[in-house]
Amino acid sequence: MAKLNKCSFCGRSEKDTGLLIYSLDGYICEECVEQASRIVKETRAKKSQNKKLTNLPKPQEIKAYLDKYVIGQDAAKVALSVAVYNHYKRLNHQDETDDVELEKSNIIMVGSTGTGKTLLAKTIAKMLLVPFAIVDATVLTEAGYVGEDVESLLARLLQAADGDVKQAEKGIVFIDEIDKIARKGDNPSITRDVSGEGVQQGLLKLLEGSIVNVPPQGGRKHPEQQFVQVDTRNILFICGGAFDGIEKRIAQRLNTHVVGFDAARNVAKLDKSNMMQYIAPMDLKSFGLIPEIIGRLPILTHLEPLDRKALRSILTEPKNSIIKQYKKMFEIDGVKLTFEDGVLDYVVDKAIEFKLGARGLRSLIEVIMMKPMFEVPSTDTKEYVVTLDFARQQVENANMAVLKESTEDK
Ligand code: ADP
Repeated sequence: MAKLNKCSFCGRSEKDTGLLIYSLDGYICEECVEQASRIVKETRAKKSQNKKLTNLPKPQEIKAYLDKYVIGQDAAKVALSVAVYNHYKRLNHQDETDDVELEKSNIIMVGSTGTGKTLLAKTIAKMLLVPFAIVDATVLTEAGYVGEDVESLLARLLQAADGDVKQAEKGIVFIDEIDKIARKGDNPSITRDVSGEGVQQGLLKLLEGSIVNVPPQGGRKHPEQQFVQVDTRNILFICGGAFDGIEKRIAQRLNTHVVGFDAARNVAKLDKSNMMQYIAPMDLKSFGLIPEIIGRLPILTHLEPLDRKALRSILTEPKNSIIKQYKKMFEIDGVKLTFEDGVLDYVVDKAIEFKLGARGLRSLIEVIMMKPMFEVPSTDTKEYVVTLDFARQQVENANMAVLKESTEDK
């Protein structure tokens, strides 16, 4: 009987494996090749993750990276760069026995919707190659009520880390719309405030760092479920919120606190068109965040409203700006895409006129580009110019109400 060749790794014979690859003095089967490839990939990924965190970029490098993707918002960029640098520095120096314990520096960013809060957090996570999850605080409710448990936000992070708990424990969670869990009214006990103060209490233990039982699928916890234990000590929480109307509270505080001899002069010096820059923790308290939460978000920074110039830059300047993306898409089909002078300014004007903000820029460009995107690939055109007349026509035909809604949904 002829001798059957065997895999030199698992010993299975040619008969039992799909494919046996020959080398000079051995064999390897299909399954062993796949397994080996998996091991190589995982080991490489782990090595690169560890390396990335030891080669921690300096705050100025982090800011320079953010500058490539996010227009303006210098104050927030500086605060974030420093906070993130310190956070991972602390993480890298945890084992040292030292009297000085470095405290965790979670961040809160205040600024109108669509000014770049999520984009900043997302970009930082991309740079550091750490798992990143965005969660909306509005879905969270106190245990026992319709909605999701606070712990479910860690489930998203676990999913982003492909279930790797150790990686998730070094990740970043962006909690959006943190202002929506503000305490409703000053008297907490009149009606049960299931999505306000209760949730803030729940968030406290995550923010300060503790071992949390996480339902891996998210949602609401139930008794038969298996939990994954996640230590939140090294997870960086970045919160964001629009805090609508907080400018009034800031102004009130500044007007009542500035008393005495120099009062009138100091009040006059304030830049009334942008009160957000004077935001302080006590404004968050008067908005309805409990002091304990504010204490665990020691880095408070603000985002500026985007003016015409910023919106215009957003269209073309970021590394993956909308216009660059469209040009690239046409280029793949061998078509050179250009925009006539005035088209981009027109788009900015419309975004401002209909109060669509930065998100509206994309919706407007999408409306303009739909027809060419549909038609051009079937032609042998090598160049396509978007004229101002064409852009106007497309936007005028579009239903602005729908456009506005689609912008709000995103
Ligand atoms: P927020 O979280 O503040 O509501 P986002 O970060 O989600 O806003 O911004 C929405 C979109 O608008 C982003 O995906 C991006 O395309 C654009 N955008 C907003 N602000 C900026 C900015 N400062 N620089 C570049 N793009 C921005």
